Amino acid sequence: MQTSTPPVQAEFWLTALRGLVRRCPACGHGKLMKSYLKPVGECSECHEPYGHIRADDGPAWLTIVLVGHILGPILLTVIPNSTWPDWLSLILWPSFAFILALFILPRAKGLFIALIWRARCAGSEQ
Ligand SMILES: [Zn+2]
Repeated sequence: MQTSTPPVQAEFWLTALRGLVRRCPACGHGKLMKSYLKPVGECSECHEPYGHIRADDGPAWLTIVLVGHILGPILLTVIPNSTWPDWLSLILWPSFAFILALFILPRAKGLFIALIWRARCAGSEQ
């Protein structure tokens, strides 16, 4: 008897991965975002609607958590051992945090939209 991964679990990770790379969670081919953080109304390939899905504060929360957990250990390791001038640290670390947040935020939004789409919880289920 051949064993395989349950299809529901595979679909979850595939959906999450497609959201992280900002692709349509349904087909994986169309773009999920039409600009930096604005989702498309519907997929250009499979016409799955996404314009009604609201991720709200979820992506910002995830971005803050990830940036904090990435930057915290780095700062606690580097700053006590560094001989850099204070002005360099005051410019370098906030800039690094800002760039990291700009990188993570759209991916976090794609992830949230994909998972909300998969759970079919678009906010219209009252
Ligand atoms: Zn699609």
